[in-house]
Amino acid sequence: MTQPLLNARPESHLFYQTRARRPVLAEARDLHIWDVEGKRYLDGSSGAMVSNIGHSHPHVLAAMRAQMDKSTFGYRLHFETDPSERLAAKTAALMPEGMEKVFFVSGGSEAVESALKIARQYALATGQGSRWKVISRQPSYHGCTLGALAITGYGPLADPFAPMMRVMPKIPAPRAYLDGLDADDPATGAHYAAMLEAEIIAQGADSVLAFIVEPIGGASTGALVPPAGYMQAVREICTRHGVLLIHDEVMCGGGRTGAFLGGDHWGVAPDIIALSKGFGAGYAPLGAMIAHDRIVNPVLDQGGFAHGFTYAGNPLACAAGLAVLEVIEAEGLTANAARIGALLKSRLEGLMDRFPFIGDVRGKGLLLAFELVADRQTMDPLPAELNAYVELVELAYAEGLIIYARRTRDGRAGDHFLVCPPMTATETHVDEIIDKLTAALSAFAPQALRAMAQ
Ligand code: PMP
Repeated sequence: MTQPLLNARPESHLFYQTRARRPVLAEARDLHIWDVEGKRYLDGSSGAMVSNIGHSHPHVLAAMRAQMDKSTFGYRLHFETDPSERLAAKTAALMPEGMEKVFFVSGGSEAVESALKIARQYALATGQGSRWKVISRQPSYHGCTLGALAITGYGPLADPFAPMMRVMPKIPAPRAYLDGLDADDPATGAHYAAMLEAEIIAQGADSVLAFIVEPIGGASTGALVPPAGYMQAVREICTRHGVLLIHDEVMCGGGRTGAFLGGDHWGVAPDIIALSKGFGAGYAPLGAMIAHDRIVNPVLDQGGFAHGFTYAGNPLACAAGLAVLEVIEAEGLTANAARIGALLKSRLEGLMDRFPFIGDVRGKGLLLAFELVADRQTMDPLPAELNAYVELVELAYAEGLIIYARRTRDGRAGDHFLVCPPMTATETHVDEIIDKLTAALSAFAPQALRAMAQ
């Protein structure tokens, strides 16, 4: 067993999920992070798929410093601010047509909560008060606040709180690679989309408010790209039943997949979008909920949106967000994510020749993942006792590579690992990632091969 990294430091007064300690960060520049002991890490997961333009970008730091000299807070009910107005306009210009109104928040869970609540208020404002159910997918992750958790299909995080929230209906995520279906066949997309229609009908269409989906899956499904035709069919089904379509772009939005929005790959426009992570890109806590005018206007016309967070539209966070979008545009980072992502994906696929326990490599642009299996034919996961999702991450850490892992724990998919460096990555960074990952996989191989032989 690899030991968790522990530095000789006094007991911390901080706590997160566990008591595990991590190295102390000293400095971060572009794709690299140094700890206080001088060890260098390549940030192969952009934190949690956040630092999309790399760390400490001088343009963003300069914009933040300039804003700091003017003001760091203006309460939204007292003042408009220049950065929030400009960021709203620039964001709206990147959205599908008609999605003109932007509601700022400070993170992904807040963006999802805001999406759920504007959907409900829209229903009330348009005489559809019977609609309140929000269908989502299993597995999925939409946030840790109780509203977002009620639509999250991930038992370990959601189940303890089930009595405290109204758990919402779930349909299976379209994991064609586990079901032995061809993801390129439009019949596969239609097969999974039909599950949404069946669920809407089973629930009673006039009780269903919305369907929420990540266009390209994040942590829960490990960069799951939907099968051919799925996104278009889901849009059509929602429209036919008067159900709002919410795209959770918290992880896949912001350019990482090679398009600004995940949904752009299929030319599908939802009714509501949740954005965060790469939108603030690690420079400030920032997110946004963007809705079509046909949703926002009835709500604003009928008494307003009964919802809002104190830090919303914070000028410093918005100045950072604006500068992030400027960097993405000026440096052509979305196109770079597509180009370098294709290279990294093919290099990850190449590792399958050497490591038979890699069962699948998937994703788009620089939202990529690989999944470990005990058997490539059956796609059975490695035994849970191997703790692969912890072990391999620690081995990579020891090599100076950060990757992000999850074990699905639904008895089907097993351990998957997101490899998602910042969009500023170059060919040289891809070499460094593959070298370090190869070393970590080689160190892990004996245990995995033993488990496969059993
Ligand atoms: N939605 C998705 C798709 C996410 O990946 C996340 C974060 N992993 C969230 C929502 C919640 O975001 P946050 O942690 O910023 O609240």
